[in-house]
This record gives sequence, C-alpha cells and structure tokens, in this order.
Amino acid sequence: MITVQKNYVQPRRVMLAVPDRKPTLAVGQHVRIGTPLDAHGEHYATVSGTILQMLNHADETGRVLPHVLIDNDTKNTVEPSVSDMHITTRIERYFKPVRPLEQINYARLDTLIVDLVFFDEPFITVDKALLDTHHESILEALRALHKHYGLERCVLLIKEDEAALWESHGTLPVETVRVKPEKGVNFRHRIINEIFNGALKTRAPYNYLSLESMLKLREIVVHKRPSVINRVVVQGEAIKNPSVLFVRTGTLFGDILRIVGGYDTQKAITIHKNMRLQNRVLRNESFGIGHDFAGIYIQEHREREVYECIACGRCNLKCPVGILPSKIMHAVKHGIALDRMRTDLCIECGLCSFYCPSKINVMEYVKEGRALLGGKGRVT
Ligand code: SF4
Ligand code: SF4
Repeated sequence: MITVQKNYVQPRRVMLAVPDRKPTLAVGQHVRIGTPLDAHGEHYATVSGTILQMLNHADETGRVLPHVLIDNDTKNTVEPSVSDMHITTRIERYFKPVRPLEQINYARLDTLIVDLVFFDEPFITVDKALLDTHHESILEALRALHKHYGLERCVLLIKEDEAALWESHGTLPVETVRVKPEKGVNFRHRIINEIFNGALKTRAPYNYLSLESMLKLREIVVHKRPSVINRVVVQGEAIKNPSVLFVRTGTLFGDILRIVGGYDTQKAITIHKNMRLQNRVLRNESFGIGHDFAGIYIQEHREREVYECIACGRCNLKCPVGILPSKIMHAVKHGIALDRMRTDLCIECGLCSFYCPSKINVMEYVKEGRALLGGKGRVT
C-alpha cells in the first residue's frame, strides 16, 4: 500500500489537451486559471501565465491531439469571468445522473452514491492513507452538494473495516453500504441494483462519484473556483518510489517521474492508466496529466507469451466476471469452438495477465477469442 504523499502544485509548465476542438487562443497570450481554451469553454487553463505553444501532441497512448502549452507565472490569478453559471456548468460535467436517462434533470438529483472502496495493487483506486487524510474534505463536499441539490439520499460505499470512520459524520444525512470486494472492481453494478431494489423500489435519478470527483467537486462547490488539482497515484514494479501526488492538471508526466525518482528498470515498460490494466506500451513521457487521470501503474512490458502455461488456474480464480481465461486461451490456440465461453463478459481488467506466474498475457487471448466471434463473444 502506498503511503507517501507529495505535493507538486506549481509546475513550470502545463500541457493541456483540447480534444476535438480548435483552441481559440494565440501564442503569447496571457491566461488566468479558468480562461477557456476552446469556444465551448469545456477546457480551461489550470495555471495563470503565457501561452508558449499551440501544438499537436501525443497523449500517453500515442494519440495525437491539439494541445496548449502554458508557462506558469505562479501567480494563480483566476479568470474574473468564472461566474456562478460557469461553475454550475462545470459541476454538471461531473454530476451527470446515470439513470433513468429519460428523466435527466440536473436541477434535481435524488440520490448520490460515492464510491470510497479501495483496492490494493494492481488496481489504482482510493488509497487508504488518502481516505484518512481527506475524510473531512469529503464530508465538507457532501454537505455542500446536499445544500446545492437538496439530495434525498446520499450513499457512501465503504469497505467493511472502514465503517467506523464514516459512520461518525454528525448530522449529515448519509447512509453507508459496507462492501466486501473480494474479487475486484466488479461489485458496483450489484450494489447499485441492491440500493435501488431495496427500500426505494424505483430508479430515481442518481449520480455515481469516485473519491477524485468528490475532491474536485469540493474545489468547485465549496471554494467556487475551477477544479485544477489532480490526485495521481504512481505505482508499479518499474517505479522506484511509488507515491500519491497532488499535481496541477496538465503537469507533464516527465516532471512527475523525476519527483518519484524515475524508473526502476532499463527495460521496455507498459503503462496502465486508472482502474484497468490495459497493457499499453508507454509511448512518451511528455504528456500532460488530464482531468480524468487518477493513476498510472508501470511494469516491465509483458509479451503475449513468455513461459508455458503450468495450468495453475490462478487466472480463472482471479477473473471477476467468472469466465475461464486459461480455457479460452487454450481454445484460441487450438481452434476449439469458443461460443460457450462467454468472452463477451470480459471487462478487460487485466487481472488474469497480472497474476499469471508464467507471465502470459492471457487477456490478449480472451480479446482475440471475442474478436473471432465478431465481438459478440457468443453465437446467437
Ligand atoms: S481481463 Fe477479462 S478474462 Fe481476464 S480477468 Fe479480467 S475479465 Fe477475466
Ligand atoms: S495463470 Fe497463467 S499459468 Fe496459470 S493457468 Fe492461467 S495462463 Fe496458465
């Protein structure tokens, strides 16, 4: 478990993606925190300073997008035009009711579900130390959201052994649901169904938020300023000092890497962004940390097959959706019919590959199996 927490909230420069939209600013122009970078105001400056470059630049997966590079003057001046309306718009980017779609009404949200369940490696989720240190901030954000939306229900998903921390929340009308996430991330659908099929019996408009989103909302709702700080977890076998960092959105990954002491290997490495172990090869280190960037797991690159399968069954035991990755791999290799193996259920969590003692990238075989069935995963 990671306990090192570091702050790096005044980077020299930030690199901000403006995907799908043409940046509206020019090189040399001065910006403040909150200055819109595109005509729709969806992307905004996270530091005050001067625009150094407008460029097409690769993100962490090598995808080239329009970007703006800003030189930070460290003065933190905020755009005066960040009005209440702008702030409300930004809240609603996080705060989108999930269901029922036909009843979306931002002005009225009945239920808020906040996911505070953390997992150990390899998943990158809530760190326990962070939960302890940010307990009050989360409650503060909940109080503000209660007031803003007049929420009827607020449900915190917590781990069983965390109950004491969250059940002493004073007068705040929140419920807690204790979760036993034995098999990983796949518990969420079940819990949401239980919440709505229980006392309520209806699917009121609800929103599902992570800890990161809660902390961002706190910045917006409580402090009435655009959200500019990301909590980023950097961990994995190829990192010297795994850490949790608070950084300005747009901070260059190369700067973060220097702070955590660099790589612990000279070999090719693979990155996994956020929750899923998607096995992507790191293309560059000069990408900027985006608003949705919560964590990165870096390991030595794993080829599809390194050693032979020893039939230990670990991949099957770890699969959270209950399919049999080793059996699927065998079927793919030997041309055996796959139609009953439910490759369509795979959520590409990567756990099968992560836990394989023979370092086989089992997930790639499962993906191939699904592709062989035209993406459906079963014959209908
Ligand atoms: S990647 Fe797919 S097959 Fe492998 S453990 Fe995750 S859900 Fe199961
Ligand atoms: S974990 Fe690896 S070695 Fe074990 S059964 Fe699965 S593929 Fe084979």
